[in-house]
Amino acid sequence: MLDALLFTKTSPLLSALYPDCLWKVKEESKVIYLTFDDGPIPEITPWVLDCLKEHQAKATFFCIGKNVEAHPDIFKRIVDEGHAVGNHTFDHLNGWKTNNLAYFDNITQCDATLAKYGVPSGALFRPPYGKLTPAQYLHLKKQYKIIMWDVLSFDFDLSISQEKVLDNMLQHTEPGSIIVMHDSLKAMDKVRYALPKLFTHFTPLGFQFKTL
Ligand SMILES: [Zn+2]
Repeated sequence: MLDALLFTKTSPLLSALYPDCLWKVKEESKVIYLTFDDGPIPEITPWVLDCLKEHQAKATFFCIGKNVEAHPDIFKRIVDEGHAVGNHTFDHLNGWKTNNLAYFDNITQCDATLAKYGVPSGALFRPPYGKLTPAQYLHLKKQYKIIMWDVLSFDFDLSISQEKVLDNMLQHTEPGSIIVMHDSLKAMDKVRYALPKLFTHFTPLGFQFKTL
């Protein structure tokens, strides 16, 4: 399971294990769903927002509650500029290493933070590292739309080049793809390189970038 999660393109076998998660949108038209995990932080999130605006693109941000508490103005900017936001736990917990009660409490805490800044709770959720136990999955899917992905950019991987990150996305993205990038310190240099080039590639082909 761990290795399976770390493919650039998600295997159908993996997505079949958690069928009520959204792995890709069934889309006939040319729409791409960009997602950014782990923000908001001042070092990269405002840059991402500027870049999205310049390219008339919308995205979905899976925010860590403690980062929202630390940077509420950036979080409000995400919401005000028409992007979608989702819950990524308060402390970026790994579901496989956390008991269920503590895990669910941390998600509720993140919801309370999002609600404080105007986002109704119980909408979108993405598990950190994509890791959920079957019991967590069965519980959370009653309350949330759980969003996974079909294209992992590997922007967080310090051992690969920025060109490889871009290539991962260009090779595997299709109509309806959900792409994972990160507005995090680890990923920010690669995001600055790859995001504008993603638009330069897909926009002339008639693709649009929308929120989930
Ligand atoms: Zn994360």
